[in-house]
Amino acid sequence: MTSQSFEPGEDQRVQLVDTFGRTINYLRLSVTDRCNLRCHYCMPDKGVEKLAHGDILSYEELLLIARTAVQLGVEKVRVTGGEPLVRRGITSFLARLAGLPGLRHLVLTTNGLLLAELADDLRHAGVQRVNVSLDSLDPATFAAITRGGDLARVLAGLAAADRAGLPLKLNMVVMRGVNDAEIEAFARLTLESPFAVRFIEYMPTLQGSGWQEQIVPGSEILERLAKRFRFALVDRGPYAGPSQDFRIEGAKGTFGIITPVSGHFCSDCNRIRVTAAGEARSCLFSAAGIDLKPYLRPEDGEGLRSALQKLVEEKPHRHGMNRCGCEHEPFVMARIGG
Ligand code: SAM
Ligand code: SF4
Repeated sequence: MTSQSFEPGEDQRVQLVDTFGRTINYLRLSVTDRCNLRCHYCMPDKGVEKLAHGDILSYEELLLIARTAVQLGVEKVRVTGGEPLVRRGITSFLARLAGLPGLRHLVLTTNGLLLAELADDLRHAGVQRVNVSLDSLDPATFAAITRGGDLARVLAGLAAADRAGLPLKLNMVVMRGVNDAEIEAFARLTLESPFAVRFIEYMPTLQGSGWQEQIVPGSEILERLAKRFRFALVDRGPYAGPSQDFRIEGAKGTFGIITPVSGHFCSDCNRIRVTAAGEARSCLFSAAGIDLKPYLRPEDGEGLRSALQKLVEEKPHRHGMNRCGCEHEPFVMARIGG
């Protein structure tokens, strides 16, 4: 792992590069483990034991981590959770994050329940894009997946985000027998609206029984869509992430496929994560992490820098998960940040 400074130029930047030559420029920062939904693929039936308030990092601590990561080479920060919009003071925190020198992209992932109230504030805070997790357009299916969520509130949130001028991505976790009949309907959303819809393979994080049958491989999603639409690959931008993106002929928006299970994208992985409790993780599927709490004093900048560099140094080559089995211990996504 190196943290290199390049030749001085118009855009002199430091880069974080891991032992496998991957440039790490993306931090997913979880601000809470709390959530106002209980999606069954993310949390067990009984929910999860909440972190004690004292264990959740303060906004000052989260900012210190983000600032240090940006100084080391991170260019994009995604704020996530739990549900980030349930944390009090979130928009002021986002405005401070947006002001970090060197940060190029500030984005947020949300379930959208509170978006109608907060869209304008998010826009003014400097959030550049919002990813809304939406797995069904049918109220009953949505309520079943989220264990009681109200689809109408999310749709109102999407409309408010649109009015506020916030670019939107819609993330749909595709599950066989649960919502896969809606793949085409989600793709159709891109015809008239500039949404970026992404189909994400269901990941067996909780390893519930029969998880193998629930996975709809990205290749199958594409085959199904190809029977209905003509589409072509879209160029990937520098921060495109693991999605393969397409545009249906004449559509205003795009759709993408993310295949964490059937097609490893570990060789292009550019991300690290920090949980709301201050645990830094270099791979979603590895329990190995570094507790950043001992280094969260502004006067110990070197300690925090070294901890983040060590994290990148120890980033595994790839995860051990495929359609047949997985090596990781079951975990709750809301605890880590998705
Ligand atoms: N609460 C916010 C939301 O739902 O967008 C942010 C946190 S959530 C943990 C982040 C993302 O993880 C969501 O898009 C969710 O769909 C995704 N996710 C959670 N569990 C998953 C699983 N088992 N397979 C695929 N994606 C999952
Ligand atoms: Fe909450 Fe997001 Fe997990 Fe659903 S996916 S339970 S909204 S954290």
